[in-house]
Amino acid sequence: MRELEQRWTRAPYRSYLYSYPHKTAYRDLQPAVSLKELWEQDQTDYHFLYMHIPFCGARCGFCNLFTLPDRRLDVHEQYVDALGRQAEQWAPWFQNRTFSRFAIGGGTPTLLEAGQLNRLFDIAELTMGLDPSAASISVETSPETVTADRMKVLKDRLVDRVSMGIQSFVEEEAAAIYRPQKPRLAEDALEMLMGYAFPLVNLDLIYGLPGQTAATWLYSLEKAISYGPGEIFIYPLYTRENTILKPEQIRNAGTDIRLELYHIARQRLEEAGYKQFSMRRFAKDTTFTHKSILPFSCQEEGMAGLGCGARSYTREVHYASKYGVSAAATRSIIENYVASERYDMADYGFRLNEAEQKRRFILKALLHREGLELAAYEGRFGHDALVEHSDLEELLSTRLAELESGVMRLTTLGMAYSDAIGDEFISGAVRELMDSCVIR
Ligand code: SF4
Repeated sequence: MRELEQRWTRAPYRSYLYSYPHKTAYRDLQPAVSLKELWEQDQTDYHFLYMHIPFCGARCGFCNLFTLPDRRLDVHEQYVDALGRQAEQWAPWFQNRTFSRFAIGGGTPTLLEAGQLNRLFDIAELTMGLDPSAASISVETSPETVTADRMKVLKDRLVDRVSMGIQSFVEEEAAAIYRPQKPRLAEDALEMLMGYAFPLVNLDLIYGLPGQTAATWLYSLEKAISYGPGEIFIYPLYTRENTILKPEQIRNAGTDIRLELYHIARQRLEEAGYKQFSMRRFAKDTTFTHKSILPFSCQEEGMAGLGCGARSYTREVHYASKYGVSAAATRSIIENYVASERYDMADYGFRLNEAEQKRRFILKALLHREGLELAAYEGRFGHDALVEHSDLEELLSTRLAELESGVMRLTTLGMAYSDAIGDEFISGAVRELMDSCVIR
């Protein structure tokens, strides 16, 4: 039994599977796929509209997202023009579908001027047919871009959730991850943001930062809690060879105390009235909006991702523009996107066969509080998940998960090892692609 446990718990921080397969498993699609045909044949019932704004003020030391430090207004303007053209071409395929969720992420979407933000909502509503009164709407922001004119746009356009990356309220810790962020700036921005009374505010914090201790981590947590956000995400620090901050620097900075900091946060957040929904997500109230939102299901949702760097998901094909992290690679991918006239073919992505769809189904359910409903798996795939995946039985026998009324959920212990559990569920084929991906 000890050996079994070791398999799952020996290294808690392996990879963050915010989606499966990971984008580093995407490759050239040969032949390229006609998006018209793909979406016309897609069987997903619910739809999520996403817009990606790949610009930030500066690149944080741990960030491997598709984003470019570029504040130039004309660059942003041309980008929004391109996104508008893309939406015009995609809109006909979504005419008879409704979007129950809409998110603008990045990057830092609120780096755009208020007028440009307004244009994004116009594109969502007038071109893509989003009904803002029936969809939950989320936008990411940052302390230095919270301004009255931008917040007014978000408020006027019925945004339900505003998410702000703070990471740390300790100046030295922010500086250590190349985020030149004065605590005062973050605090002022937060006060202003809370004043707009959005239905839900989320704050992101990171643990495991260079120089961080249990005491300074608690300080940042308490600060965040003191503003009363409805949701707090806590992220373990990950660094990669392609991030500015290298894994070696973190190893040299001292002992890895991420697991200890995670437990401190979980306990404190629960005391403060936050429920745990995943290893990262803690929230107070799940019925935050007064809108009557169209139904959606994370399992059966198709995602239409507009913008460069956005991923789109149909049931069988996931696709995106090419992925890069370095400034040169990101800039050239964005320039190609902006110069493009046509956005109707997918030439980079991943085709999910049934085995991969099953893994995706399990991962999307198991790593969240909702858990894996065995009947739903059987309904979709016609097989018993426990028979098909001996790993699930292993999680039960090691008490990392439990089964209650047909739903398999991670235990408190299992939740702490989500990043190891998710990693173990990556198929051999996807792992091979991820490992051989050369990121520019
Ligand atoms: S972590 Fe967020 S703010 Fe920092 S560079 Fe990445 S996308 Fe931009």
